Amino acid sequence: MKPIHLIPLTSVNGVVGLDRLEHLAATLARTFRTPCRIRPETFDISFSLDERRGQYYSTAIIQRLERVADSDARVLGVTACDLYVPVLTFVFGEAQLDGNCAVVSGARLKDEFYGLPPSENLFRERLIKEAAHELGHTFGLRHCADWRCVMASSHAVERLDVKGAEFCRACRKPILQTVW
Ligand SMILES: [Zn+2]
Ligand SMILES: [Zn+2]
Repeated sequence: MKPIHLIPLTSVNGVVGLDRLEHLAATLARTFRTPCRIRPETFDISFSLDERRGQYYSTAIIQRLERVADSDARVLGVTACDLYVPVLTFVFGEAQLDGNCAVVSGARLKDEFYGLPPSENLFRERLIKEAAHELGHTFGLRHCADWRCVMASSHAVERLDVKGAEFCRACRKPILQTVW
C-alpha cells in the first residue's frame, strides 16, 4: 500500500497549522494502515485563485499536484483556503477517482465560518472525515448510501458531523485489498 503524503497548500489566505497537520497525519496512518507524512515543502496555490469569487479552483490544484506527486505515494493537499469548482458554490475537497491526488480545505470546517464560537475538536474531526473521504475516492470509492460511513456524501458540516470517520464494511474492501 502506498504511503500518504500531506502537502501544505499556502496562499495569502493562510495555512493550516502544523499541529493540526500532524494530528491529521497520525489519524490517517491509523485509518489507512499506511505511513503518512507531511512533506517539508509547501505548495503555493495562488495560481488557482478566482479573484471574483475569492476562492481557489480545486480541479486546477489537483492537476498541479499531479505533477509534483511521485507515483508511489498518495498525495493529499491541505489548505485553509476556500475551494470551488465552477458548477458549485464551494467544495470541502476534491479527489481523482481511482487516482493519486486529492485536496481538502479547512475553510468551511470551522464553526467560526458560520458565526459560531470556535471548536478545535470539531474542526479536527471534520478535517479527518473530509480527508479520509477524499482519499477514499482515490481508491475508486464513490459515495456510499450508508449515512454512518465516511464515504457518505456531505455538502454541509451538519452532514459531516453525523457521519463517522470510518469506512463501512463494503467501502473498506478496496482499501483492505490494497493494505494486506
Ligand atoms: Zn465525495
Ligand atoms: Zn460505505
